[in-house]
This record gives sequence, structure tokens and C-alpha cells, in this order.
Amino acid sequence: MTEAWRPDGEDGRRGAGGPVKVRVPAKVNLHLGVGPLRRDGYHELNTVYHAISIYDELTARPGDTLTLTMEGEGAGELALDDSNLVIRAAHALAGYAGVLPHARLHLRKQIPLAGGLAGGSADAAATLVACDALWGTRLSREELAGIAADLGSDVPFLIHGGTALGTGRGEAVSPVLARPTSWHWVVGIADGGLSTPAAYRELDRLREAGTARPPLGSTDALLAALRQRDPRVLAAALGNDLQDAALAMRPALADTLKAGEAAGALAGIVSGSGPTCVFLAADEAHARGLARDLTAAGVCREVRVAHGPVAGARIV
Ligand code: ATP
Repeated sequence: MTEAWRPDGEDGRRGAGGPVKVRVPAKVNLHLGVGPLRRDGYHELNTVYHAISIYDELTARPGDTLTLTMEGEGAGELALDDSNLVIRAAHALAGYAGVLPHARLHLRKQIPLAGGLAGGSADAAATLVACDALWGTRLSREELAGIAADLGSDVPFLIHGGTALGTGRGEAVSPVLARPTSWHWVVGIADGGLSTPAAYRELDRLREAGTARPPLGSTDALLAALRQRDPRVLAAALGNDLQDAALAMRPALADTLKAGEAAGALAGIVSGSGPTCVFLAADEAHARGLARDLTAAGVCREVRVAHGPVAGARIV
């Protein structure tokens, strides 16, 4: 499914007619409050997004048609046809701007597939930014955010980056007032993915059965934690309403969370709909030690260190 791809001397900057290389981060939800199911089938969300330093990279070059190749996480597994969010994003932008969707796109993927880190949404955001530059369509950030919202709830945030409040179904993004602090994370990647819609259905089931925890509700404690510098205060404020659903679907994640705790993490949560777990460390050195211990515990496919917040989809 993947084609061989050779860099043809690009230096990563936008040249006349390309190539354009865009780097886009993964996201975690520091607070994921899931409200009631809406009539349109989405849940009302109250979330705090946080972009972390695990990146996908999308390169766009001029082409006679629209093509996509890829390498890295999910290569050979992820369809490269019209179902791919990269292709959908390119078509959406071209349709909006009234240009032909012609480009040779290449995706270097480091964000695990269906991992709860919004990798697909990140790739859609990167495509909008890259093709906007390649095609010279020069849309405003607001116009790009509008197209992004139609592609997926997390896509506007991944254009934005940093740390931001998400409301509605997550697509309405506003920046939060935070101290310019870098937080250090250890990211425990599991084997295989979890389906986001299935995690929401499981949460609905737990709530109907009366066995779900009370919803997290307000983001106030989390937002207050972001205005100070003590990672222990942030640790105490992290929360995810989807966590129990992810644990019900993948009971082994409880061992991952326990292993992180035993290794001295300040806190550990399931990222989004899982199965990736993220652990907060006190500082960079602590994160490295924690990553070593979590790796040794043998509960994850891969363990990475990351920091956040970082910028959203940007030309590099
Ligand atoms: P989220 O946290 O936004 O719910 P996720 O991180 O759990 O998402 P993704 O990696 O974004 O999961 O992918 C979810 C599904 O989207 C995949 O299983 C795949 O079928 C589809 N998809 C389409 N295009 C892409 C892409 N470029 N990268 C990843 N997944 C894609």
C-alpha cells in the first residue's frame, strides 16, 4: 500500500511551487469532560487540549493529480485512498478555495494509529496548512479552522496547538491563560488501537447502567493548575471521563497506569479514548527515569518522553 519515497533534495522550506513541509504535534486531553449525547450524535465536551512533542510530518509537492504515500506508524495498515484524512483535507481545502486538488503528499507518521493522540486529525491539520501554502490559497487561520471543524472535532485545535479549551463537540477552541511553563510527559504506547466511537458508546453504556463515575464537570481546577508552576498541582487536576470506558474495553491498561504510578509518576491518565497512557513527570530528568522504568515494566509497546505545550501545524 505504501510506495517508496525519496526526498529530492528538499530543504524543508517553502520554495517556488514547493515542496512545503509541515510538522504537526499529537494532543492529549488534560481534562476531558464528556457531557450528554446531543441530537446530532456527538457528546457535548468540555476539554482542555494540550499539544505535545510527538510529531507527524507532511510534505506537499506539486503534482498532476492528488497522491499520498507514507512511512512510519501505521504504514501498510492505513488506507491511502479517499478515506484517509489527508486526502479528505486536501479535497476540502481545494473545494473551498476553488482550486484543483493536485499535489504529491508524503506523510511521515510517528503518532500511533487510533492511539487517543488524535493523529488522524493532526494529519488533516497539517494537510490544510501545507496545501494552503503549496497552492497559494492564503486562507486566514479562521477560514482554515472552519474547514478543519468539518473534518473532525480535534482538527481546529491541531492547527492552533499550545494548550486550549475545547467546547461544543471539541471544535470550538479558545486559548487558555497559562504560565509559560513546559510540562514533562512520559507516553506509554500500547499495542493496537481503540476506536473512539466505541469508547463513547461504552461510556454511554456505563452511564445507563449507573456504574460510571460522576462526570468531571468544570475545567476550573485544571485551568487554575495551568496558571501556576507546580507539576504536583497539575497532577491532581488531570481527569478523563473516557478513562473508565477505555479500561473496560482494554483491562490491561490498568496495569500500565499502575506501573507508571509504581515508577513514581505524579499522575497517569488514559489519553483521550486510549489506549495510550500519559504520565506527568516533575521535570525532564524525572521523565527520562520514569520512561526507563516503564519500559522495563514491559507493559507498553513503546515508551517515549515528550513535553508540552508545543505549537500546532507549522511549516518547517
Ligand atoms: P482521536 O483521539 O482524535 O479520537 P485517535 O488518536 O484515537 O483519534 P487516529 O489515529 O486519529 O485515532 O485515527 C482514528 C481512525 O481514523 C483510524 O483508525 C483510521 O481509520 C482513520 N484515519 C484516517 N486517516 C488517518 C490518518 N491520516 N491517520 C490516522 N488515522 C486515520
